[in-house]
Amino acid sequence: MKYNDYFGPYGGRYVGEVLRKPVLELEQAYQDAAGDPEFWKEFDAVAATFIGRPTPLLFAENTTRQIGGAKIYIKMEGLAHTGAHKINNAVGQALLARRMGKTRIIAETGAGQHGVATAAVCAKFGLTCRVYMGEVDIRRQRPNVFWMELFGAEVVPVSSGTRTLKDAVNEAYRDWSESFPDTHYLLGSALGPSPYPDMVREFQSVIGRELETQIAREGLDVEALVACVGGGSNALGFFAPFIDKESPRLIGVEAGGRGRGIGEHAARMTGEGRLGIVQGYKSMFLLDDEGQVQLTHSVSAGLDYPGIGPQLAHLGASGRVEFTRALDTDALEAVKTFARNEGVVFALESAHGGAEALRLAASLGKEKAVVVNMSGRGDKDIFISARELDPENWFSFLAREAAEYESQKKSGEKA
Ligand SMILES: *Cc1c(COP(=O)(O)O)cnc(C)c1O
Repeated sequence: MKYNDYFGPYGGRYVGEVLRKPVLELEQAYQDAAGDPEFWKEFDAVAATFIGRPTPLLFAENTTRQIGGAKIYIKMEGLAHTGAHKINNAVGQALLARRMGKTRIIAETGAGQHGVATAAVCAKFGLTCRVYMGEVDIRRQRPNVFWMELFGAEVVPVSSGTRTLKDAVNEAYRDWSESFPDTHYLLGSALGPSPYPDMVREFQSVIGRELETQIAREGLDVEALVACVGGGSNALGFFAPFIDKESPRLIGVEAGGRGRGIGEHAARMTGEGRLGIVQGYKSMFLLDDEGQVQLTHSVSAGLDYPGIGPQLAHLGASGRVEFTRALDTDALEAVKTFARNEGVVFALESAHGGAEALRLAASLGKEKAVVVNMSGRGDKDIFISARELDPENWFSFLAREAAEYESQKKSGEKA
């Protein structure tokens, strides 16, 4: 099996002395497992029965007719269990952890999607689970905290730094440096020190392998594959079987947020990103003049990480993957378009890809096809989408719920 710790100049394992041992042990265990057909047989069995694979490829028929250009197809990855592609990687790493004899899992989470997937998988495999999450994110993403705890995970609030994802990552590393004899760190995207970028892509490439079969079955002339890019795991998994080929075009869509300017977006590959070494790997980051990580913004909580995985940075530099950005408003419009036309709700992250697919299809001929990866479904976003798209009804609903709770509490106190 081909294994990479560097992708061009990007990647590597820039960790302190204490973390060298667990990182190298993991690298060895991953290479052993990846070369063992029994491991993949087990992965496929869990994928079929627990994740719900394969996920369908849907022809967005009404949208295509409306636009009048290339056919738009949607890889329905959001139908995977727990609502997004994150579960593919969580299952793969949990199986690996079990094979290594680890009994405890730690993870970082930002929006909570990776935490939910990890907590679900730990419940299934009987592993102890602790998820580090910034205090700010805990406040913003209460519903996901509820699911993680229901699955039996311990959610630990992180109060250092900006109290968001990067601080949660730091806490997870701190834990791991003391706990690695029995603990696996289940990292959530195709970034971090080697072996994570290569390993996470490999677990996610189940998306692309299915897609390859589905494209052949439908006999599509695919012009481009489009995916949103946070750390890069859904995009790389989706692109994987096509990377070494000349076609189709591979397009990554970053969070354009509210527009240009520091703190307004999370676009690292379309101008503002700089080469740096952050949190264990060399790649493109949004950094200020002192080399500090910048603040970011996106309406989608899963796309606002300031760094990008090393393989995508390399594929961007070589030109194999093209990068573009979609604004918050473009993503919200795309959510509405696909919901009205197709009865499908894109996650806000995935809707960045959806927006680009709509734009691109309009410029192409009818014989072509564009496939967008719907990395997640939008149910989880109701607290954001509803306040953006229908604020009045949404807030009066929340106010009524809160009032009812208060009055129940009072009558309980009286009784
Ligand atoms: C986490 C997440 C992303 C971003 O992560 P990648 O590693 O870039 O895929 C995108 N879409 C959804 C639905 C997510 O939950």
